[in-house]
Amino acid sequence: MNHFEYRDNTMFCEDVPVSAVAESVGTPFYLYSKETLSHHFKVIDQAFADIPHITCFATKACSNIAILSLFKSLGGGADIVSGGELFRALKAGVEPQKIVYSGVGKSAEELRYALESGILMFNVESSQELQKLQEIAQSLNIKAPVALRVNPDVDPKTHAYISTGLAKNKFGVPIEEAEKIYQDANSLSHIEVVGVSCHIGSQLTTVSPFIESLQRVIAFMDRLKESGLQVKYLDMGGGLGIQYDEEEPPHPEEYASAIKKVLAGHGYTLIIEPGRVIVGNAGILVTKVLYTKSGNKNFIIVDAGMNDLTRPSLYGAYHAIKPVEEKEGQQHQEADVVGPICETGDFLAKDRSLPVCDQDDLLAVMSSGAYGFTMSSNYNSRPRVAEVLVDGNEFHLIRKRETKDDLIAGESIPACIPS
Ligand SMILES: *Cc1c(COP(=O)(O)O)cnc(C)c1O
Repeated sequence: MNHFEYRDNTMFCEDVPVSAVAESVGTPFYLYSKETLSHHFKVIDQAFADIPHITCFATKACSNIAILSLFKSLGGGADIVSGGELFRALKAGVEPQKIVYSGVGKSAEELRYALESGILMFNVESSQELQKLQEIAQSLNIKAPVALRVNPDVDPKTHAYISTGLAKNKFGVPIEEAEKIYQDANSLSHIEVVGVSCHIGSQLTTVSPFIESLQRVIAFMDRLKESGLQVKYLDMGGGLGIQYDEEEPPHPEEYASAIKKVLAGHGYTLIIEPGRVIVGNAGILVTKVLYTKSGNKNFIIVDAGMNDLTRPSLYGAYHAIKPVEEKEGQQHQEADVVGPICETGDFLAKDRSLPVCDQDDLLAVMSSGAYGFTMSSNYNSRPRVAEVLVDGNEFHLIRKRETKDDLIAGESIPACIPS
């Protein structure tokens, strides 16, 4: 469910016409519905309401501090993958005791920052990282709360770039090696073993890989328990998919009830790290048609490019594209929607049947709330776009469009270069 719908042929976000936002902030921009964000957060959080759990929103999916603080206000925590994301989560008011830190390459500086911030748990992904964490914790004279991220070797049946729980992926440690690392961890003076974590991939559209990996993780935790190591947290990561096109992902209720069935009686506190499922369909990218051209092929050239929304170029991802204003008796044609970037890979849609567009028409790139703005860049020296949050009949600029000065902030021309 989302709050982007047509009223009298005009696309609204909640009670705000999308065109009114475009008039105010210019294009392109990301537009989020607060009601949709809240609703999606609550649906997944409440699906686990009857068991001890923490919903740690995966910050990398959509990291604007306004949105992080919205989830915080609903009781959420954060899953972070960098010191920068920790900074954002803390700025947004997320309680450190609801923050978990994942990622294969945490730097010493990042580990120290997170230790000093008092986060709930480090999801450690290698023996060397464990050792580094021990050293830093010792130097700070605090104990680092740790879960080992295990790689359950389960095929999530999703895009290769977002599969993370296969033996060949860089993430986590093989379950067979994990027990030894746990025993090592347990003997370290400044490490406290508190959990086990896993995350098998993103945009999963069936429940079974989650269940398969959960069963493997629980069997592993039972073995740990037998060897005298009792942990509190079971972090199952994120990964639940959304509908971009024809996918039929399980409803969060279905996902939750399958998980709860396997978990029942084990007494662990569950941590989930949903990202895409909460924000994906709560945001759109609004772009303006600059030019159209036809020849061998029809092209609609818009003012948003692969630097603003990378998913189509990176994953060949599908995003529905809809006109902001529907016109009566509109002709359709097959066209590529492309951006201004000097790369052939710069497209938002290929061979798509779309209404014939005129210059200055606005298009909405749907389902862009997850991994949209957060993956954007300044490539081709394009300022990153504005982000806007709609609340009922009001809208708020939650990130200003970057300026040309922002593009060169931090750059300088040294004296060795003749002027
Ligand atoms: C990316 C990621 C998530 C979120 O994945 P979604 O598919 O957006 O739910 C959760 N946990 C970890 C460790 C991640 O890397």
